[in-house]
Amino acid sequence: MHTDLVAALDIGGTKIAGALVDGHGRILHRAQRATPAQEDGETVMRAVEETVGELAGSPLWGRAGALGIGSAGPVDASTGTVSPVNVPGWRDFPLVRRVREAAGGLPVELIGDGVAITAAEHWQGAARGHDNALCMVVSTGVGGGLVLNGQLHAGPTGNAGHIGHISVDLDGDPCPCGARGCVERIASGPNIARRALENGWRPGPDGDTSAAAVAQAARSGDPVAVASFARAAQALAAGIAATATLVEIDIAVIGGGVGKAGDILFEPLRKALGSYATLSFVQRLTIVPAQMGTDAGLVGAAAAALARQTDTAAAV
Ligand SMILES: [Zn+2]
Repeated sequence: MHTDLVAALDIGGTKIAGALVDGHGRILHRAQRATPAQEDGETVMRAVEETVGELAGSPLWGRAGALGIGSAGPVDASTGTVSPVNVPGWRDFPLVRRVREAAGGLPVELIGDGVAITAAEHWQGAARGHDNALCMVVSTGVGGGLVLNGQLHAGPTGNAGHIGHISVDLDGDPCPCGARGCVERIASGPNIARRALENGWRPGPDGDTSAAAVAQAARSGDPVAVASFARAAQALAAGIAATATLVEIDIAVIGGGVGKAGDILFEPLRKALGSYATLSFVQRLTIVPAQMGTDAGLVGAAAAALARQTDTAAAV
């Protein structure tokens, strides 16, 4: 059978999305389940198996030659296991083996969700044509991934580019990861909202205290809301500048809910970047919004599966 498609899974704390994807990144068939994130590990796995089973019921399934998984992290691609922070029932869970069994023995490629989004932006989105890129998701958490020398750089365990847990404030607030002053501790949506509230910002009559509400207030000129986004932008700029200085990226792509704040984030971010990315070889670095939208995880997992398929074909 000619295998011109791949299967893809995007596993997060709220949903498990599946798709059959062609070589141009087009989604031809979809399946989805809610993630029973607070249930035991086997219950979560059943939802994954149902998603794969639904894909396998498609007449297109026989054309799938590999399956890619982008999962909430941490993941360990070297052992094929995952321990997502927001799925407590899975600790060192053998996801690759279990999905391979559910998928009738297809080769399975596992990457972290930040790396998956990077693969998608590089293949079809804002980082297309860039050989050296950092792609980030700024939402409830801050994740990311790297493209180096034209290739996705997942690292041995599939977590490389996890910029959310680079420290940009040596004596900063403790981060749930155990370190201090991490980018995520300053720039994630909940931390933008927390800082605004601590400094006297109050929500409107609807009581919405999300980062999106803070962004709305900033757009109306609320100085505390503006300052909270500026501080997040500063943390992101420091992390991006450090990355650029280390590995010479020429573009940083920012997606996720906080990324949707638009100029409220990007204006102070571009300004702050000038203060941190100072050496000659990082001064041309550009920062742009992500383009891929909600299918980024699926398309990125498909890209990883396609790369695996190509490697396998080359090895034969
Ligand atoms: Zn951290």
